[in-house]
This record gives sequence, structure tokens and C-alpha cells, in this order.
Amino acid sequence: MVRPFLYKNHEIHKAQSFVNYVFMEVILKAPKLADSIFSSNLVLDKYKNLIDGVNVNYIKNPLIEIYSICKKLDKSSIKTLKKAVINNNRIRELCKGEVEPVLYSEIEIIDNTLAQQIKYFCDNLYDESIKKAAFYNQFDSIDNYYNFLVGKSVTCRSCGRSTVLTKFNSHRSGLDHYLPRKHYPFSAINFKNLIPICDICNESYKNQKDPLIIVLNKGKSNEQKIKTKAYYPFSRFTLEIVIKLNFLKNYDSNICPEDMEVSFECVNHQEEVDNWDRLFGIEENYKAEFCSDEMYSYYEEVLMATSRGLDYLDLLKHQEKWADKRFLKIPFLTTLSA
Ligand SMILES: [Zn+2]
Repeated sequence: MVRPFLYKNHEIHKAQSFVNYVFMEVILKAPKLADSIFSSNLVLDKYKNLIDGVNVNYIKNPLIEIYSICKKLDKSSIKTLKKAVINNNRIRELCKGEVEPVLYSEIEIIDNTLAQQIKYFCDNLYDESIKKAAFYNQFDSIDNYYNFLVGKSVTCRSCGRSTVLTKFNSHRSGLDHYLPRKHYPFSAINFKNLIPICDICNESYKNQKDPLIIVLNKGKSNEQKIKTKAYYPFSRFTLEIVIKLNFLKNYDSNICPEDMEVSFECVNHQEEVDNWDRLFGIEENYKAEFCSDEMYSYYEEVLMATSRGLDYLDLLKHQEKWADKRFLKIPFLTTLSA
């Protein structure tokens, strides 16, 4: 991320409390509870309507199934599931490598049907339940939260290059599950894990890539999984990323990605920056930008202005660098004027 999101208190963050409560206080206590079947009578009054007020296929039925399987589980399996609920929602600590997540693959080992039902429940929380009146009347809507979080800032905080829709658009950009819900149970509606980024970052590059694990030689006999640190999107600090650009031939309108080197340096956070590049294809995207017709036109504009005695680079350094792709124009002009 070139810039973090500012965490803002909003009712929608409490939707995760419902998930934590139902699992920690009811479902995972099933072996000790007298009730043989799960029902909304087992939960606090404030949560009853979230169970009874939504299509039974999304909340109630999967919870009935999960409860009945959990009732027969041993202490060790219950402990793993509790760890999944707690750890998988400590997004900041997971990014820093301070806590261990629990993956679906670990729940499949306990019970395959249980893993499937939890997946089904969690997927429906985000795809269906949270959009229903029972949820948005209690926690407000995703659209309102999106407008509250994004406001009128159009620049994608992941790449800094493309745009997101703002509160002045009638539509909104997608929210990326930073820790993909395909791998991480129980964080599907954790809004510290949901980030509004541009479609290029979200759909073309990131997709299901896991910020916490790099997979080498995927699908081959020598497949290797390496843990890595990731930048927390709601971090209180901005990474000081230095973009290094080097042209391997003279710059002209026919310049291609093969004619340049782009790298990123960040003191004390190189691992997070390398991971950001891996997740969002940043090097490829920035090379495409440096090779664009628009960047060449900008270069011609700068040449004309320079011939009239104007120092464009000095001017750029005194302007807002996140506007007008200036954070890319600065290394571009710095390299060309060296
Ligand atoms: Zn982006």
C-alpha cells in the first residue's frame, strides 16, 4: 500500500462481534450445553433477529449443522476452532507475523463437513446476510460504510496510480478481502480485512493471493510455502517507499518495459514492500505507466517548460505527491535529469 486507510469507528465493525459471540459463547460451548439443537434461544436478545430475520439457508441452517458437529468434538478440536475465531481476526498482528492463523485446511482435518459448513456460513455472511435488513438495520450498510471510509479521495491506496469510486458516485468500488476468505475462516465480515482498492489491484492482480504466505513452485512436487510479513492496510504509519528507476537505453516514445529497471526500497520494511509488489504487480504496473503515451506527452511538456527556464522537478517536489501521479513523475524526472 502506498498509503494506509484511516481506521474509522463505524457500527459495521460490530458485525464481527456477532460472529465471535456466536462461535465463542454458543457453538464452541456445544459439548457442555444441554440443548441438542442450535436455536436463536441460545443467543443474546440483540442477536436473535440476525438469526431468525435472515433466510434460514444463510445463518440458521449452517449454524444448526455446525453446532451438532461441534457437540461431538474433543477438547483439542474445539481449541483449534477457538484459535481460528480469535487469531484470524487479529489482522494487524497476523500481518506483522505475531500470531498464527488457522486455515480451512486445518479445519478440514478435524471434520470435512464442518469445514464446508463454516465456509458456507462465512461466505454467505459477506455475499448475502450483511446486505439483508436484519443486518443493515443493526450495523448500517456496506455502502454507507464505504462512503464514510473513502469519502471523496479518488486515488487507490494500494497502487496510487488508478482510481476508486467515491461517495459522489452512485456505485462503489469493490472491497478486497485482504486475507482471502478462501483460506481464512471467520474474517469474511471483519472490516479491518476489507479494503476499497481499484479494480486493477483487486481483480486483475491480487485476487486470492495470500498476503501471509508465498507459494513457490505451486502444484509441483517441490512446492514450498514461505511465511512473510504484510503491510497492515489500516496501519498508523505510511511506508516510506523509494521508487528506483533506471533506463537501460535512451528514453524516447518507443520505450518498453524491457528497457528499464524499477525497484523499491524501504528502510526497516523491505519485506512488506516486496510483498506489496508481489500481491499487486506493482513493478509491472509502474513500468507500464513509465512507458505510457501519457508519460511521454508529459515528458515533452517538461522539455518545453525547461527550455523556458522552468524547473519542473523542483516544482513537483513542492506539490501534493499523491495527486496527478506525481509520486511516479518525481522518480521519472529525477532519472531523466541525472
Ligand atoms: Zn490500485
